[in-house]
Amino acid sequence: AVVLGIESSCDDTGVAVVASDGRVLGEAIATQAHVHAQWGGVVPNLARDAHAAAIDRTVDAALAAAGLEPRQLTAVAVTIGPGLGLCLRVGVAKARQLARQYGIPLVSVHHMEAHALVSRLPPAAAAAAPPAVRMAATLMTAAAAAATCESAAVAAGIDTAAVRDDISNFAAVPFPFLCLLVSGGHNLLVLVRGVGKYVQLGTTVDDALGEAYDKVARLLNLELRPHGGAALEALAREGDPGAFRFAVPMRKHATCDFSFAGLKTNTRLAIEQHLDPQRTSWMTPDQVNKLQVKADIAASFQFVAVTHLTEKTRRGVGWARELVPELRHLVVAGGVACNQVVRKSLQQLAESEGLELVLPPARWCTDNGVMVAWAGIERLAQGWAEPPPPPPPPPSLSQPVGVIGAEHEQ
Ligand code: ATP
Ligand code: FE
Repeated sequence: AVVLGIESSCDDTGVAVVASDGRVLGEAIATQAHVHAQWGGVVPNLARDAHAAAIDRTVDAALAAAGLEPRQLTAVAVTIGPGLGLCLRVGVAKARQLARQYGIPLVSVHHMEAHALVSRLPPAAAAAAPPAVRMAATLMTAAAAAATCESAAVAAGIDTAAVRDDISNFAAVPFPFLCLLVSGGHNLLVLVRGVGKYVQLGTTVDDALGEAYDKVARLLNLELRPHGGAALEALAREGDPGAFRFAVPMRKHATCDFSFAGLKTNTRLAIEQHLDPQRTSWMTPDQVNKLQVKADIAASFQFVAVTHLTEKTRRGVGWARELVPELRHLVVAGGVACNQVVRKSLQQLAESEGLELVLPPARWCTDNGVMVAWAGIERLAQGWAEPPPPPPPPPSLSQPVGVIGAEHEQ
């Protein structure tokens, strides 16, 4: 089976073509960071327009990289949520159009499921994958309509058992595994027992860690492209993580839940106190950027954030083991899993708990089409697909009544 996956839930249009034996055949991604940079956050209607402008080109580029025609696809998978509704509709409309035009099934994918399951692609898949075709989305208005998919039985006579065999022959991580999902909008600790079988052990009670990274990066006037988190990580490398002793959140809560709002506030107060524009007004922006205290704040924020993440995940390992004593793998995925300090700390946790840490390659941690295509293949193997949407109804009353009468006379 060969599946094309479409991701358009936020500010990247990601498309990829992946085979059920784990080969990534082609990938393309249209970024729109430049569209939103001046606004300090993703503007939904600008994002929708940029997706609409980029979607056809991105699909064509992924297919061209794979050397395939759309009629050679087995199915098309698309993110149906969670994310920005305006943006999701662009991807769903394109997926429905492809499914209808080529008579292939449609697979609906949950965005966080895709972030989690991409960990099952073997490392060799990343090594052999062609580089993603990168492009910039350009703004252009386009009407993008869509309805969410109505479900029905497995369509089109796909041999789901064969797809399942393909997967089980190579999957890098077997079920069950514990998965920490850290991204821009979510902070979840989930026991993954199988495709569609998820037990949520913890979530954030306020912000997600990626969101906190982005907000602190903005307060520190860092470069927000492609992600504020990456800039903050780079600055923190120059700083002393013990310089500011911010409180580690949620220590008194015997849960696996996360909280980053208090840490963000403490960090903002430190920034206001030490990088006050009044105090630094005699410096050039370049001099301000070189201030040691700026790097120290970044490093201290990161140290406490990662300590909290690791402490709660440690408790989650215990909770997960009560349900599945044979637990062997810890997966960390989502955009923040690109972070080296996060990786290192969870590596140490995994070692001390006797677990194997699995990290998807960085390019598949932030939003991309590969994870959607792959989650589509996993769902297809379960038989969870929908038949191609029917063609749109013929326009009614398009012929004048007199013409119908004339036919009768013939
Ligand atoms: P969600 O998946 O929850 O809907 P999203 O799709 O916007 O949110 P992702 O694309 O998975 O999120 O990840 C983007 C987030 O990852 C951003 O918040 C970004 O700052 C963060 N991020 C990326 N690289 C790093 C890094 N090196 N260190 C910390 N955070 C990072
Ligand atoms: Fe995401």
